[in-house]
Amino acid sequence: MTNLVLDDRFARDLPEMAVRWRAEEAPDPRLLVLNERLAATLGLDPDWLRTPDGVRLLVGNSVPGGATPVAQAYAGHQFGGFAPRLGDGRALLLGEITDTDGRVRDLHLKGSGHTPFARAGDGLAAVGPMLREYIVSEAMAALGIPTTRSLAVVATGRQVYRETVLDGAVLARVASSHLRVGSFQYAAASGDRDLLRRLADHAIARHHPQAAEAQNPYLGLFEAVLAAQARLIARWMLVGFVHGVMNTDNMTISGETIDYGPCAFMDVYDPETVFSSIDMWGRYAYGNQPAVAAWNLARFAEALLPLLADDLDQAVTMAETALGAFGRQYEAAFTEGMRAKLGLSRADGEADERAVTGLLEELPNLLRDNHIDYTSFFRALGRAARGDTEPARGLFVDLAGFDAWLNRWRALNPDGDAMDRVNPVYIPRNHLVEEALTAAAAGDLAPFENLLDAVTGPFDERPGLERHAQPAPEDFGRYRTFCGT
Ligand code: AMP
Ligand code: MG
Repeated sequence: MTNLVLDDRFARDLPEMAVRWRAEEAPDPRLLVLNERLAATLGLDPDWLRTPDGVRLLVGNSVPGGATPVAQAYAGHQFGGFAPRLGDGRALLLGEITDTDGRVRDLHLKGSGHTPFARAGDGLAAVGPMLREYIVSEAMAALGIPTTRSLAVVATGRQVYRETVLDGAVLARVASSHLRVGSFQYAAASGDRDLLRRLADHAIARHHPQAAEAQNPYLGLFEAVLAAQARLIARWMLVGFVHGVMNTDNMTISGETIDYGPCAFMDVYDPETVFSSIDMWGRYAYGNQPAVAAWNLARFAEALLPLLADDLDQAVTMAETALGAFGRQYEAAFTEGMRAKLGLSRADGEADERAVTGLLEELPNLLRDNHIDYTSFFRALGRAARGDTEPARGLFVDLAGFDAWLNRWRALNPDGDAMDRVNPVYIPRNHLVEEALTAAAAGDLAPFENLLDAVTGPFDERPGLERHAQPAPEDFGRYRTFCGT
């Protein structure tokens, strides 16, 4: 038994955006992976979660009395085109939990069956993609990047029909909330200003309470979301994360990374890196992510216009002014992060500032032109800061070009140990993720657990994990990822 209490604050505050629904019955639920530490922070007993009753909770087939699972409505721009009614087609919000730190967290299921928002979809998910979300989101959390968390993956015992027949699974995930830019677009498109206001008040109370103190709380909300997203996208860029489907329904109000579908980490540095099979034009390429975030925030501002001011022109001016801050905030967060990656955190006067600016401007071209593995480079550079320059130099073809950069950088006295605390050794490398998921699909979870162990301690180099620090082998080829899997 559990004393779990699930609140239904979202459903109570915003009934127009919540459809009461139940998870489809899982014929033969089997727990594949459980995040015991996360469970503990939620006040959930991991031993109980492993029992048949616990597993039934994790697939939504047994919910505590008083809980109101709902499918959430939202809209969204998908690849630039507006879809007024998306919503949770294969997901459910079971309810909100107060964690041991007193924070309100959504307990949410993905792959829990067809809902009224499913359109042509089957409402289901396969084991591989749910394990994939689990490992990438937990890697992001371990890198210190705001993200939804993964609590468990349970195989349902139901078959899922994709290109082949696959085993079905449900991912139980935890988030500060599942409010999206698309949630506001849905409320705005409904034309119901009271709904939009309630949604904004709900978001302010839940995520950005300081906005309530602002002269214009709704402008305060916009500015707070913009600031959180500027920081988030900078963090993605600093680790080489490509989200892959930055539609406005996949951008949170909390500033957490959400909806791990076609995402992947870049190996060789190239701003044009795209993994998603449907992203033909590279809209969501690595190097486009800051610009796309700004575009999405403009759509968020549009949705908020009716709340910003009674006069539309005035509201537009306010939104445009606020939006103008995104580039500056993003650049500031990115530059600060890059300084840390280069071991140059302490700003040391104007000359230092100029020297660092020059190094930062030249680095992207050096990395791209020499086909450098992005993650390995910064660890190798940490060794160079401690005097061993060969691992970094060995990566470059244009040695003269790199040496010139290296000497100027070393003259600034970079701190190699500080670099190793921010530059990961282990990321969920695409070839290792694929290898782990292939084994898992065949019933062997050991490679998955091994990789999970590596990427959840990303900064500490450990014996036995040498393979996990290596770039993809030459014959791995071009990596492709998929949506809605
Ligand atoms: P996303 O992949 O997160 O961008 O999802 C976009 C929309 O498609 C959301 O409304 C999802 O709920 C919906 N969706 C994705 N896959 C499925 C599926 N297999 N069945 C039903 N709805 C789905
Ligand atoms: Mg989504």
